[in-house]
Amino acid sequence: MNMFFPMFFRIEERPCLVVGGGEVAARKVDQLLKAKAEVHVVAPDLCEKLSNLSKNGTIQHDNSIFSEDLLTKYVLIIAATNDSKVNLTVSKFANNHNIPINVVDAPELCMFIMPSVIDRGPVQVAISTGGASPVLARLLRARLESVIPSAYGRLAELMSLFREQAKSHFPEMRHRHRFWENIVQGPIAELLFSGQEQAAKDALAREFSEPGRGVDKCGEVYLVGGGPGDPDLLTFRALRLMQQAEVVLYDRLVASAIVDLVRKDAERIYVGKESDKHTVPQEEIIQLLIKLAKEGKRVLRLKGGDPFIFGRGGEEIESLAAEGVPFQVVPGITAAAGCSSYAGIPLTHRDYAQACVFVTGHMKDGELSLNWDMLARPNQTIVVYMGLQGVEALVTNLLKQGMSAEMPVAIVQQGTTPEQRVVIATLGTLKNVAESEDIQPPSMLIIGKVVNLHEQLAWHETVTTEME
Ligand code: SAH
Repeated sequence: MNMFFPMFFRIEERPCLVVGGGEVAARKVDQLLKAKAEVHVVAPDLCEKLSNLSKNGTIQHDNSIFSEDLLTKYVLIIAATNDSKVNLTVSKFANNHNIPINVVDAPELCMFIMPSVIDRGPVQVAISTGGASPVLARLLRARLESVIPSAYGRLAELMSLFREQAKSHFPEMRHRHRFWENIVQGPIAELLFSGQEQAAKDALAREFSEPGRGVDKCGEVYLVGGGPGDPDLLTFRALRLMQQAEVVLYDRLVASAIVDLVRKDAERIYVGKESDKHTVPQEEIIQLLIKLAKEGKRVLRLKGGDPFIFGRGGEEIESLAAEGVPFQVVPGITAAAGCSSYAGIPLTHRDYAQACVFVTGHMKDGELSLNWDMLARPNQTIVVYMGLQGVEALVTNLLKQGMSAEMPVAIVQQGTTPEQRVVIATLGTLKNVAESEDIQPPSMLIIGKVVNLHEQLAWHETVTTEME
């Protein structure tokens, strides 16, 4: 088993050599340049990328055949030619002079190997399997990429601005560490992650003069879109906040596979949904959010799809804003996008639809009041959320505006989940089909010529019923 010594190597402005001028060499050159090394390349020919770098003076190119006395000044050498003899020679020379050498794809010739890296500005996470399995290293990297916020680099930079101050303020290391731990896991880091750089900086500055008062003791509300059902469609940020919240309020539309990803010890509060008997009225939900946040809790308001699309997310944060409760909003994949992708129905298409409208089919006082003449226009796709109840009014009005009874309509039930069902009808048959097929919520309608494409483009395993 290979055991390596892990370290981070300062090569800024130091001469480093890459032997080889192809694409692989170019990738290594890139990595060296990122660490600000002075890069020399020895190769008879350069690929386009390296040739450009050489022309603009970023790297130095030597097309002479590589010779031993050239070597000794380098602090690091990478052999990246496709000639194993050359690679072996370079490796021998470097070893003779004890110069750290890496030979691409030949771990036995390497004095050092290069890890898979997760790069967040000054923060770098390096993964190595000791050369045993680069694939495993890449996989691990992909996993970690998803849980390390992209703003960690900026967080590290912000903290480095206050490093000296923290040292003099907390001479004892243990106090200093506790101080930084609280910052990294607390609301100041969250401010930064949500893009409020200046506010985070100000709050951190205040932490020294008034400890614990840098930001309000008030908690925070995360209004998060959980997407249409498939947990893989969550965003990185959604997942991170789901892992962080102490209490979660979720409604019926949020798939249980998604609720399962919330931090295990978080308190879960089910608040139902309009068409549900066990529903908590919207006003109560809002009051609960405010109360929990004011108790200092990090509260996750988890919504199906996107919180700003037919989700009443706007109303909820209006009240939070009025009460001065801090919040952030995380977009989610809305049902229209999820269902159309998973049903193989592009919502726009150069030949069939140059526009797409999202409407709600939710009836208010028994009426469906939509902008019918606008909806019936040609060359556009209509996506109807909550459309089951108002299906009759919808069909009647669209026909009245002159839309053809032959216009194809897709009903997508439980889109993106393993239970997804797609039923294809026409505007004329829609009402009967919805009944005979016993369509259940959550379902949505996609109306337009693009529906015909599903036959060709359906890729997700799904039960599809074509109605004549
Ligand atoms: N904010 C949500 C929509 C809430 S309205 C979003 O952006 O997706 C609720 C309606 O969304 C449901 O009545 C249904 O029409 C639609 N919907 C949500 N998830 C769905 C799913 N997985 N499959 C089909 N329709 C869905």
